[in-house]
Amino acid sequence: MENIAPALLEWFYRNQRILPFRTDPSPYHVWLSEIMLQQTRVSAALPYYERFLAALPDIPALAACEEEKLHKLWEGLGYYSRVRNLQKAARIVCEEYGGELPADYDALRALPGIGDYTAGAIASISFGLAVPAVDGNVLRVFSRLYNDSGIITEPGVKKAFTARVMEHQPPEKAGDYNQALMELGALVCLPNGAPLCGQCPLAALCAARAAGTMLELPRKAAPKARRVEPVTVVLAEDAEGRFLLQQRPGKGLLAGLWQPLLWEGEALSAGEVLARLEELGLGCAGAEALPEAKHIFSHIEWRMKGYAVRVGTVYAPAGCVWASREQMQDEYTLPGAFKAYRKRMGL
Ligand code: SF4
Repeated sequence: MENIAPALLEWFYRNQRILPFRTDPSPYHVWLSEIMLQQTRVSAALPYYERFLAALPDIPALAACEEEKLHKLWEGLGYYSRVRNLQKAARIVCEEYGGELPADYDALRALPGIGDYTAGAIASISFGLAVPAVDGNVLRVFSRLYNDSGIITEPGVKKAFTARVMEHQPPEKAGDYNQALMELGALVCLPNGAPLCGQCPLAALCAARAAGTMLELPRKAAPKARRVEPVTVVLAEDAEGRFLLQQRPGKGLLAGLWQPLLWEGEALSAGEVLARLEELGLGCAGAEALPEAKHIFSHIEWRMKGYAVRVGTVYAPAGCVWASREQMQDEYTLPGAFKAYRKRMGL
């Protein structure tokens, strides 16, 4: 195939979105943006990006940030392991590289939370290194460009596609080329059967377009079924309108974040809830059932039964605190899984 870079770059320079991490593509900015964008759309991530950088303008500040504040800055983005890994990596960068990310693909790749794609994006965009940065957008573009029905979730297929990506990469413009491919995937060669081939700078070269197969590509392995887990959530409120929050364990799902009282793996009746509360020293007269809710994580789905109770004591069981509305807003990070209950908690 003819080299795609000239047409692709010309299109990119005319059509790229103006984004803060493009205007100032320092390694820290590119790193932070790529981690935020892993599970979040650009438009949704931008306010978080600005706020995060205003609070933590460089890697040493990120490394030194206190955990609750870090979680608070990430609140609403979800997948909190991303921000915990950011901080772990920032601490290593401070200890081993004097607080600046290393201009080396393998050294970047070795940091917590940085995979092939993120290492490639930082190395090529910020340091100008001629390495690939292949995300889902790029795989989609190449599967269509070559009309290749290989299953892109398979490592061997991804490797072969990456080799093709590199065949077209101009070494002196590696960062622009990588960004242009991602941008084409994000703006033109769209997923879910909606490519805008009429606006595509590669249309004349595209084998899937010629064959009329672009709507069938890319092919992916069927997603694994999620485990469905019943969960009981209890909003325990005291006479002053404070809610009882408990901190999750330091490891595993939603590690270290705060939640209402919760029993995982059990859909408790109102009577059972009252008995559990009694055992905890939180006697109350009745439990009001709240609408059921669900939350989907990558590998698990919570089906939540909710109850609201009024508690007459100020006693907080081990690992719990009574939190006012202001404290829930400013101090304690309540993950998005409890979105359905926020209103009832005055948030
Ligand atoms: S022509 Fe259409 S299918 Fe081919 S790369 Fe462009 S947008 Fe994608």
